[in-house]
Amino acid sequence: MKNYDVVVIGAGPGGYICAIRCAQLGFSTACVDGELSSSGKPVLGGTCLNTGCIPSKALLDSSHHYSFISHDAAEHGINVTGIKADIHKMIGRKDRIVQKLTRGIAGLFKKNGIDWLQGQAKLLGGAEVEVTPAGKDTAEIYQVSAKNIVIATGSVPAKLPVAATDRNRIVDSTGALAFTEVPKRLGIIGAGVIGLELGSVWSRMGSRVTILEALDDFLAPADQEIAAAAQKLLVKQGLDIRLGATVTGTGANNREVSVTYEQGNDKQQLTFDKLVVAVGRSPNVEGLGAEDAGVNLNSGGGIEVDKQCATNLPNVYAIGDVVRGPMLAHKAAEEGVMVAERLAGQKSEFNLDLVPWVIYTWPEIAWVGNTEYELKEAGKKYNSGVFPVAASGRALAAGDSDGMIKMLSDADTDRILGVHILAPNASELIPEAVLAMEFEGSAEDIARTIHAHPTLAEAMHEAALASDQRALHI
Ligand code: FAD
Ligand code: NAD
Repeated sequence: MKNYDVVVIGAGPGGYICAIRCAQLGFSTACVDGELSSSGKPVLGGTCLNTGCIPSKALLDSSHHYSFISHDAAEHGINVTGIKADIHKMIGRKDRIVQKLTRGIAGLFKKNGIDWLQGQAKLLGGAEVEVTPAGKDTAEIYQVSAKNIVIATGSVPAKLPVAATDRNRIVDSTGALAFTEVPKRLGIIGAGVIGLELGSVWSRMGSRVTILEALDDFLAPADQEIAAAAQKLLVKQGLDIRLGATVTGTGANNREVSVTYEQGNDKQQLTFDKLVVAVGRSPNVEGLGAEDAGVNLNSGGGIEVDKQCATNLPNVYAIGDVVRGPMLAHKAAEEGVMVAERLAGQKSEFNLDLVPWVIYTWPEIAWVGNTEYELKEAGKKYNSGVFPVAASGRALAAGDSDGMIKMLSDADTDRILGVHILAPNASELIPEAVLAMEFEGSAEDIARTIHAHPTLAEAMHEAALASDQRALHI
């Protein structure tokens, strides 16, 4: 039986980053992963690279270009005729990007001397892991032993019993990333991150998109001022968002899918060409044998860990979507780095309070820290500075001036407590706020920082000034 210093289970952004950092620190490292590509080949990268972050952003970018050329180019004096979308090419481009990146990880594993063990892993208790290679007979099952085990098995789409996926009419996010033609009528259950991102993709390509959301609030986890502004813009873009809608049944045949739902006392039925179920994700512990091996699970069915990602068993750790906290790639990756470094005796920490969120609609929505509602609920005294993107020269020059930046800071200490952005490329603006907050910075620190002109980042500067009623351009 081969013995390793560290065996990582799962090669998503949590697992593969953890494995690389372990190898950098001199540990003999193996990473077991059971993921198969659509053509049945073992692939690295997990959800993020294969069916999550990367393919969705590839389609968001392609559809954004299509939308710009179709609707906005003329405003710039660029008249384009005969615009035609080629969905096969668009999907093919996305697939090639995924392939390039997943192969890149295989290259990084090779470079760092990490053994890629292809197959499903099962914990055997103690310090042993059983590996079942895909498609091989049971004779080829083997065991490895490890001084330390890191579980990074990620998450899977949450199931909705009234809308079971059938890989044809009713699909999850993976299915919605691989449509071979634009559905004329697209239904989506769940107005969360996936519903809004994939709803935007297909709406831009011409689908009539209806999103059914169970909650009465739109984007409940976001700051509600930003959420309300985003909702208005998304509705203007063509998304039909129905809040407080409880789906009660679905029926699919070869041609279409019908959905019944209740909104208050109102019962309605809609018919779509495709229906996407996007009601959250569940931690993935299937087949892992965690409980049998004595690993405690949490109330959500994921692995129970402490702040440093240690489980109840000595030398067994868990990171990423399979543990508490937001299900985001950068959160998984930074937990992976922390665990590797702590195994090497370093005192690395991970700040769960400062994980930024980005929703890649257009404009993008991004935030970090507390919302205004949370501060009110906690009875905190705070200052709020809001700067509209429309007052940014750079945004006007780009012809992209919807949105706002809002900075919330402690009324006594001026320390930044939350930053909420609805703006073009909000994903590239939020790191400034995360960095400032990581250094326990104040709104005044941002207000005194020189921001290049003309940039959208100046809107962050102005939001900081606005929190002290001294914004210069409003
Ligand atoms: P995963 O990436 O899920 O990887 C887990 C890996 O473990 C998989 O390869 C799985 O096959 C393997 N595995 C599971 N069990 C076993 C086992 N027993 N044995 C062997 N292997 C096993 N996050 C962002 O931050 N930004 C985004 O823009 C973003 N977009 C997304 C878009 C979509 C459509 C989806 C679905 C998700 C998106 N996410 C995004 C979320 C992001 O993909 C996840 O948070 C991230 O992939 C979690 O990383 P992980 O390493 O914990 O798990
Ligand atoms: P989500 O939690 O973001 O949204 C799910 C939505 O579905 C919620 O608004 C919820 O109220 C609603 N819902 C739940 N049950 C419902 C029901 N029965 N009927 C109608 N609505 C219902 O989950 P998601 O959009 O599926 O995405 C899963 C996770 O994947 C995200 O939370 C995030 O962690 C990750 N992700 C991140 C990104 C990103 O970072 N840009 C993109 C996609 C996915």
